[in-house]
Amino acid sequence: MAKKIKVESNILKKNNLTAEENKKYFRDHNLFVLNLVSSPGSGKTTLIEKTIEDLQNKIDIYVIEGDQQTSRDAERIKKAGAEAVQINTGKACHLNAVNIKKAVDKLKPSNNSLVIIENVGNLICPSMFDLGENLRVVIISVTEGEDKPIKYPNMFHSSDLCLVNKIDLLPFVEYDIEQTLDYCREVKRDLDIMKVAAINGEGMQKWYKWIADKSGLFKI
Ligand code: MG
Ligand code: ZN
Repeated sequence: MAKKIKVESNILKKNNLTAEENKKYFRDHNLFVLNLVSSPGSGKTTLIEKTIEDLQNKIDIYVIEGDQQTSRDAERIKKAGAEAVQINTGKACHLNAVNIKKAVDKLKPSNNSLVIIENVGNLICPSMFDLGENLRVVIISVTEGEDKPIKYPNMFHSSDLCLVNKIDLLPFVEYDIEQTLDYCREVKRDLDIMKVAAINGEGMQKWYKWIADKSGLFKI
């Protein structure tokens, strides 16, 4: 057990060193970087597609896609009009800082742009891996259980914003959204929370305003 813990902490230490290098690069190039995390199927890719569609006239957007296999999401993002790089993590269930460093080398985002990282769908270990991002956004959808925040508290605690997606489906599912919001606040009192439906744009203006305010790179 002691050995396992030591190996784990060495991996994280190494990751954090690269994350610091990434941070410096992002600072030097005035990039604003978001790390999007969620379980599979919360609608991350759709949310990014919609964000590109609505913000591409205001800011340059680059996307780093993480999945175990396939380039399907990167293809979708390119169709939506942004440059994208796909990372396949193979057996790994999270992105690490080295993945991001390599992806940024390929993407070469122009200065003053927005970089969105779509992490591997997993609410557990992506919470431990700092990618050097400015802010972390956790997405849950109303087709999941209300208790995700208290089941996976590390992820919600390490996030800066929680987007509750697919609110267009609320009339058709048994989902107590107020309960979710209570659980979020239980885990992190000052967590920003927004209700959105990426598919039809509901609530998305608040999300765009949040990106604009936090990045300081454009105005809504
Ligand atoms: Mg996806
Ligand atoms: Zn993992």
